[in-house]
Amino acid sequence: MPAVAVATEREYGLFINGELVEPQSGETRELTEPASGDQLATVALAGEADVDSAVEAAQSALAGAWGKTPANERSRLLHALADAIVANRKELADLESRNVGKAISSVKAELNQAVENFRFYASAIASIRGETRPIGGSLLYYSLKEPVGVVGQIVPWNYPLMMTTWKLAPALAAGCTVVLKPDPATPLTALRMAQLATEVGVPEGVVNVVAGDGPSTGAYLVRHPGVDKVAFTGSTKTGAEIMRLCAEPLKRLTLELGGKSPNLIFADANLDDAIPSSVWSIFYSAGQSCEARSRVLVEKPLYDQVVSAFAEKASSLKVGDPLDPETQMGSLISAQHRDRVHGFVERGREEGAEVVTGGEAPNGKGAFYPPTVLAGVGNEMEIAQEEIFGPVVTVIPFEDEKDAIRIANGTKYGLFATVWTGDPARGHRLASRIKAGEIGINMPYTAFPGIPFGGYKQSGFGRELGLETLDLYLETKSVLVSTGAKPYNPFGL
Ligand code: NAD
Repeated sequence: MPAVAVATEREYGLFINGELVEPQSGETRELTEPASGDQLATVALAGEADVDSAVEAAQSALAGAWGKTPANERSRLLHALADAIVANRKELADLESRNVGKAISSVKAELNQAVENFRFYASAIASIRGETRPIGGSLLYYSLKEPVGVVGQIVPWNYPLMMTTWKLAPALAAGCTVVLKPDPATPLTALRMAQLATEVGVPEGVVNVVAGDGPSTGAYLVRHPGVDKVAFTGSTKTGAEIMRLCAEPLKRLTLELGGKSPNLIFADANLDDAIPSSVWSIFYSAGQSCEARSRVLVEKPLYDQVVSAFAEKASSLKVGDPLDPETQMGSLISAQHRDRVHGFVERGREEGAEVVTGGEAPNGKGAFYPPTVLAGVGNEMEIAQEEIFGPVVTVIPFEDEKDAIRIANGTKYGLFATVWTGDPARGHRLASRIKAGEIGINMPYTAFPGIPFGGYKQSGFGRELGLETLDLYLETKSVLVSTGAKPYNPFGL
């Protein structure tokens, strides 16, 4: 397989040491567009020898040019990469939309965020600094911040481009080098971004992208002795396995995992605002979002009204061709995933939930599934506890504020929560009582460069997008200096 430029001949190599290369594994995978079933591309899959090459390239870059690149130059390169994403946004949007089946309107918003994320970390570099502190005697203390080293980054299929930027930007800002493993189904935009990074002057070996199977290639990358830190985004189940793998040899680790986020609607909320936003909060990206507000909790007197308004808005969404700018919801990632989503709906029905709208896959091409609203749901049901990861919302009644908090906190996850209320004090009260990494009060959006994003409980640990994310890619080294006329001689020898 020739190692060719992406988006021209539809064959994609691995990206190692500054260039697209053929896989030593000899393995490739045929990708089809989930929305049409049409052939999309042939991609290379990495095996162990490819991961070895990528890690070696990352180690050499760290020991060589990149390790000597000063912060202001890294900042300039991150801005240049942001500019390159802007210049190539049409191609990137097209690739992402066709690869994931996601509505191009969503992809465009994600691209804007990707650009802002690189710009944020280009500026955030200025915050990397050590400290000095008086400690008395003839002692001088100062600390240095150093990159943790080679980082293995593993990202899922639901936001391949955005997750790549969330991972790359802070790692590069901190001065690390990266071996990134995208999901084998969705490596196209990550490969293109690695290529763009090299085109704007990021030295070879700093960004390497090796698509490959999770349990074999991904696990090999995690265990690799040349990898100093692992940053993972994906399911809680895989996150737990990665944590085990990180024990030997011991690795630094951050985990961004699943969610079952609540969206609370109180009787004093403005429903004209709350309902359309809440519909967006579950159905954008076809519900394939970690922070999808998949549990809508409604104060009892409003329950029937909210269910029917929600169902009406949900069924009016424009579902179809991801490349049509009017489309609001594209397809799911695959027919297999659609079957999994439908399985949840069927079991929910058997447990007693009412399918108010949706709940049946349409005939015809593509992995489409309609926006689905399930009412009469109890928080103990499987559909309220497990991440369905599709366009399915469960609507659950609550009695009062105390009951709402109990239900909101009644899952193993804790990623995000939205509260709709006309009472500002109530909004802040709930923000302090809901166990989640981020809370929106009358505000559906979740991810902003500069605002820490991440989980409580089984949704993981570590934060993305924030200033504190840099610390996850840095070591602190304390330096102690004797400034006395004579050095210390503790044994008096
Ligand atoms: P997944 O855990 O199955 O896979 C994620 C990645 O891990 C893929 O690249 C996969 O190839 C790899 N992988 C799988 N097994 C592995 C192993 N044993 N060792 C190393 N790598 C392995 O998740 P998914 O189904 O692709 O993605 C959806 C999940 O990601 C959902 O649970 C979603 O909530 C979560 N997610 C979380 C965030 C966040 O920021 N918290 C963002 C996006 C997605």
